[in-house]
Formats: sequence, structure tokens, C-alpha cells
Amino acid sequence: AAVIVAIDGPSGTGKSSTSKAVAAQLGLSYLDTGAQYRAITWWMVANGIDIDDPAALAAAAGKPDIVSGTDPAHPTITVDGTDVAGPIRTQEVTSKVSAVSAVPEVRARITELQRSIAAGAERGIVVEGRDIGTTVLPDADLKIFLTASPEARAARRSGELKGADVHSTREALLKRDAADSSRKASPLAKADDAVEVDTTELTLPQVIECVVTLVEE
Ligand code: C5P
Repeated sequence: AAVIVAIDGPSGTGKSSTSKAVAAQLGLSYLDTGAQYRAITWWMVANGIDIDDPAALAAAAGKPDIVSGTDPAHPTITVDGTDVAGPIRTQEVTSKVSAVSAVPEVRARITELQRSIAAGAERGIVVEGRDIGTTVLPDADLKIFLTASPEARAARRSGELKGADVHSTREALLKRDAADSSRKASPLAKADDAVEVDTTELTLPQVIECVVTLVEE
């Protein structure tokens, strides 16, 4: 039977690297749900939708066609046929994504996409995000909640951003977590039946091994 693994947690905990590696090792599909929220945010910006106007965001939520490629060795994301893998990682999109993803109509749209992708994954899938275990796939076979100290997270993220200032990275990251955790519609949260893994003192290979072991149990 297809195995469904939900991996949630804030940014900088190693969620994406872990999820991709676990999926590749186990021969499963992979879905980065943050990339979907970034893609819809990119489309809103590109089409001049006012990010501070939830009604405008809600009205536009159904318009872009967002397609995710689920091969963990080569994940892709397109909007209306355009490859947006690069543009969705800009600082502008990163600073606006929490506001867009707080809108219930946006979440309903993206959640529906996520469920249909998971249902279509023949061998199973690793889905990473903020609300996968609580809301999107509450019946997942395994739920992981990754955490790490703010210092470790900021250090990792500024490493990824190639030398970005650790202090401002830490502030931006904590601000985004606070917004993601306090929104009304399915906030960033640990499911009651999720296994919490604190990655502060662990290397990436250790985290991957830990999750693979939990899947195989
Ligand atoms: O994982 P990543 O940092 O790319 O996620 C970008 C943003 O997308 C998060 O800060 C959050 O606002 C939103 N998100 C969400 N629910 C998810 C995944 C991401 O609201 N399941």
C-alpha cells in the first residue's frame, strides 16, 4: 500500500533536505507545499494583486494553474506553464508569503491540490509543510515535526542564502514563524500524534536516518 509521510515544522529545521532524501531513499514521491504557497504568492505579485487586501487575494486564489513535479531527485514547480523555481525564492516573495497563505480561500485551493497529488502517488509520498499532519493529511502513516533552536535555524538559513547576515536572517525567520503560527486558518502546528525531532544537535544524515527508521518501523 502507498505510504504517506507528513513532515512539518518551521523553516531552517532541515525539512526540505530531509524530506527529499527520505523520499529518494524509500522510492517515494515528494511534495514541497511551501513552494506551492510561494508560487501563488509570486503570481499575486506578478499580477498586481494587493497583498494587504485579503478579499482581493481570496478572489484571485483560483486563477493561477500551479503544477508540482514530485520526483525527489528533480522537484519542479510551474505557474501557468512557467518555471518559477527561481523567482519563488526571492526576498520579496519570502516576505509576502505568510500574508497570502493566511487567506482561507488560498489555503482551500492549495490544500485541494495537495490532497489530489498525494492520492495520485502510487508508491506513496513525503509531503513537507506546516499543516500537513494537522489539516491536509490527518490520516498520514507517519507524522514528523522537526524543530531546532532559533540560532541553529538562522545559521542554516543564512548559509543557504550564501553569506546573508545571520542577525537579520534570524529576525525575518522568527517574524515569518510568528505569522505562520498565529494565523486562524490551519496554523503551523504539531499534530498530537506527530513524532517531534529536535535537529539542533543532529547532522542532516542523522536526521534522515532517524526518519527513515521511523518509516520502516
Ligand atoms: O517552507 P517554506 O519556507 O518554503 O514555506 C513558505 C511559506 O509558505 C511559509 O512561511 C508559510 O507561510 C507557507 N506555508 C503554509 N503551509 C504550508 C507550507 C508553507 O502556510 N503547508
